[in-house]
Amino acid sequence: MASSKYLTGDSSAIQEFIDRFDVFLFDCDGVLWSGDHLFEGVVETLEFLRSKGKKTIFVTNNSTKSRPQYLAKFTSLGIPTSTEEIFGSAYSAAIYISRILKLSPPKNKVYVIGEAGIEQELRTENVPFIGGTDPSFRRDMTPEDWKGIADGSLLDPEVGCVLAGLDFHINYLKLSHGFQYLQRGAVFLATNTDATFPMNHSFFPGAGSVSLPLANMTGQKPIALGKPSQAMMDAIEGKFQFDRARTCMVGDRLDTDIKFGIEGRLGGTLAVQTGVNKKADWEAEGAVAVPAFYVDKLSDLRLVAE
Ligand code: PLP
Ligand code: CA
Repeated sequence: MASSKYLTGDSSAIQEFIDRFDVFLFDCDGVLWSGDHLFEGVVETLEFLRSKGKKTIFVTNNSTKSRPQYLAKFTSLGIPTSTEEIFGSAYSAAIYISRILKLSPPKNKVYVIGEAGIEQELRTENVPFIGGTDPSFRRDMTPEDWKGIADGSLLDPEVGCVLAGLDFHINYLKLSHGFQYLQRGAVFLATNTDATFPMNHSFFPGAGSVSLPLANMTGQKPIALGKPSQAMMDAIEGKFQFDRARTCMVGDRLDTDIKFGIEGRLGGTLAVQTGVNKKADWEAEGAVAVPAFYVDKLSDLRLVAE
């Protein structure tokens, strides 16, 4: 079984670890902060790594926010960055659609199940869409809906893709539209497939629990565009052009972050124990992924002169 090297408190091992990499990909929730609580020493640790010439890129599966919305969160928590360093699953989906799928008329629209962050990223990429936060989809089904969805008269014939992300107003009407578009041949995408996400010391249904009912209805699996999907890694690499062998993924979740780094054949993966998974999880029989390195918390990487 692969084993993991513990770095906390071992300054020569930390020095060696830092020297191995030029680029650090950071997961956000569980690594930098928990909800709205910034972890102690995170700002100083990022500053320390940058002062050593390291590139920092923030990679989040949170599909509800666009990069500018995420930047506002970084700024409010006091972490200096720019939208250029932020890579979210809504952005990943938008650039997959505009640069890889390249939908063309007459079927170039996206039917969105999700929040404003997805809409904002699609707009930036000039991708036309319907659904999303449109209030006419946030209601109960009427007899006219049952009829018009079935005969197609209430469907937009230009929809060529269904994109499912976390939607706080998911309902039967939205799922019925999505199902019909998929049955009519639309490409099925999911921003990310996290079953749940952590919040307030508990868990809530994640984006994967929004796309799963559609997968169940159609028997199709969506193309997922968040961690651990390699479509996201390819998109990040396309934008930043880094050397994978000198890049390290830092995260708190084995099934998203650590798997993402391993399957992306990065030079290293580092797990922190301030989020979802802990040492016992990767030491357990049949662990989904084992990080190459681990620390207690991100700020353990900051070497200070003694
Ligand atoms: N999805 C949602 C909706 C979230 O709010 C979060 C965390 O805040 C996540 C996913 C996981 O995000 P990350 O990849 O930054 O841990
Ligand atoms: Ca996380």
